[in-house]
Amino acid sequence: MPHRLETEIAGETRVYDAIVDAILSHRLAPGTQLKERELAQLFGVGRESVRGALTRLGHSLLVELRPNRSAVIADPSPAEARDLFEARRVIESAIVRSLARDLTPERGARLSAFSEEEQRAYASGDLKTAHRLSIQFHSFLAELAGNSVLENVMQQIICRMPLLVLARVGPGAEYCGAHEHRAVIEALLRRDEEAAVNKMLEHLQGLEKRFGLNKPELPGTLAETFNFAKLDAAKTLSQGSSLNSDKPKSGKEGN
Ligand SMILES: [Zn+2]
Repeated sequence: MPHRLETEIAGETRVYDAIVDAILSHRLAPGTQLKERELAQLFGVGRESVRGALTRLGHSLLVELRPNRSAVIADPSPAEARDLFEARRVIESAIVRSLARDLTPERGARLSAFSEEEQRAYASGDLKTAHRLSIQFHSFLAELAGNSVLENVMQQIICRMPLLVLARVGPGAEYCGAHEHRAVIEALLRRDEEAAVNKMLEHLQGLEKRFGLNKPELPGTLAETFNFAKLDAAKTLSQGSSLNSDKPKSGKEGN
């Protein structure tokens, strides 16, 4: 590639980082259209920079690039959501296993510090920091485990989770909390490999449940397409009311 202007690359990074940040903090909903010209104006950068940022976002599957050059924020399907959780179970089990086996005092100290910071954020009501830390927890473990490939994969998966929450649960949903994270960390600090894996799997299962992903996908695509909510509800009932027994979100910190 011929050398690109530094300002163009800086602009691309700025747009990319801003969009990732907006996704992580639930400010960009799945399906939102990203217009090149509008973004260029908003960020005061050239359209090349915007195009570069959108291409990178496309590579990390955060944005869906369409043939007519339009781009929309990705909208993960329930099937993809389940696939993501399946991948997380495998990857995060491997991460905690490797951490438990090879827990240096330095890593232990960083784990404890992280856990305290996360709990403090929830306790003080600083939910913005608390949520950021809760999201960060999973990539932090990957980073600590020191496997760069696993870390990259986790980073991509983590970025996709907020989209999944927005697409499947709605804004304001809680999806991680300090308590379950602390249970994982405590097992790691004891170097109890099996307990650490089990606590992580329990946490992921809880998350998946909170996302409502344990419900089977309804086949009625026509009803969905035409937004016949009542039809959907009737069908859900006929498939067993226990499927919808998730309690409404209380807005309380997850446990
Ligand atoms: Zn978590």
